Amino acid sequence: MKKDAWGWISDNEKMIIEASDKVWELAELGLVEEKSAKYLAKILKAHGFTIEMGVAGMPTAFIATYGEGNPTIGFMGEYDALPGLSQKPVPYQDPVIEGAPGHGCGHNIHGVTGVMGAIATKVVIEKNGLKGTLKFFGTPAEESSAGKVFMIRAGCFDGVDAVFSHHPDHFNAAGLGSTLAVIGVKFHFQGTTAHAAATPYVGRSALDAVELMNIGVNFMREHIVQEARIHYVIEEGGMQPNIVPDYARSWYFVRAPEREQVDQLYDWVLKIAEGAALMTQTKLKVEFMEGICNVLPSKGLSDLVLANMREIGAPEYTDDEMKFAKDMAKTVSKEVKREQLRASKRPGWEQLVEDDIHIDREIHDPWDEDIVWPGSTDTGDVSWIVPTMEFTTATATLEAASHDWQWTACCGMSIGHKSLIFATKTMAGSAVELITKPDLLKKIKDEHTKRMTGKKYICPIPVDVKPPIEIARKAAGLEE
Ligand SMILES: [Zn+2]
Repeated sequence: MKKDAWGWISDNEKMIIEASDKVWELAELGLVEEKSAKYLAKILKAHGFTIEMGVAGMPTAFIATYGEGNPTIGFMGEYDALPGLSQKPVPYQDPVIEGAPGHGCGHNIHGVTGVMGAIATKVVIEKNGLKGTLKFFGTPAEESSAGKVFMIRAGCFDGVDAVFSHHPDHFNAAGLGSTLAVIGVKFHFQGTTAHAAATPYVGRSALDAVELMNIGVNFMREHIVQEARIHYVIEEGGMQPNIVPDYARSWYFVRAPEREQVDQLYDWVLKIAEGAALMTQTKLKVEFMEGICNVLPSKGLSDLVLANMREIGAPEYTDDEMKFAKDMAKTVSKEVKREQLRASKRPGWEQLVEDDIHIDREIHDPWDEDIVWPGSTDTGDVSWIVPTMEFTTATATLEAASHDWQWTACCGMSIGHKSLIFATKTMAGSAVELITKPDLLKKIKDEHTKRMTGKKYICPIPVDVKPPIEIARKAAGLEE
């Protein structure tokens, strides 16, 4: 039956690539990715899915549903771009529009693998008279506002048995690593202004509060878990030195491997902020920005996805594509390549440097079990609710850096297109197996239950915090 899905994908390759390129061209920022969301929803609707647009208080979040009964298989797709990463699909820096957003994380491909994976699975259900429900989740603002967490809070993922997601990467893999849970928060301090030379004694400096808070947090670092990360910027620190700043603001990220560790660290940081306000006789206002859980892996889904990848086989590349990769390699020094590959921990990475290889064609067994990658993704929260696998395919040349112009270039040309087709086939093949093998699904769900032992999902975003639509619109220059 998987062959029906793969056949449909092969027959529709042109249409699938066009969809990816369209989202790549639109390159809209998080929470304002309106054209991209509507475009993808329209494709799903044309293939018989019912669309629920604007879920969880986000105009660009949507759910597309097909079929009925059990099991319910989820497919996720992101379609938000990154600011300033506009780039033509060429191996040298050349923006389409200077300073405009671009798909520097490849979410044009992310969105389309999910959409087309769902449609190809639907083709199999229809053709073979199978029972089952398919849900595509259009999840906005992965880069900026953790759209998935709001969708979970709204109950969008309730009743789903397993979720597939795909992310462009350097490698073909279905990892077992985790990520850091995170809280993002802004601290607003309000003091009293005064002439800084004439009457500083009547002033109360909000900047002092920000600085004292930072000192407190920096002394706290000795006593936190090794893998934790705390970083901040001072967003506002006053106007000029002869005015006592009556307002100052810092923005913090607090990260740690486990959700509860982040909560503990965050409580401590809050106390330090309160202490800074007390010391400086200023007032503190805390603005919660985002909260994300660590990723819970799924060995069962990893095995399933890898088996499908191997059955399909990794893409072959043409001479032109190899030349593109070689030219791209010239934009990065060998030292940087070495460090990027070292950080990936990919077994045998040294050989890739040694042999001057620019695209990884291998399909890897997971090498990251028990590794916590030092980043965060809102896919983490989904993985607490339902068994989830976000697998990767080699989309970018080995020298291309994510969140950089090189990544945008790779995701808009034929190396990216091949990764897109390979990933869509992998996703559909894996979904079909889950629908037709209830024992396998049960095993995967049992593993998830076991991983959740001693854990309880508590949404990291407080109930009164809404998706920051207005802030996103302003950041995108859509509103004053
Ligand atoms: Zn991404």
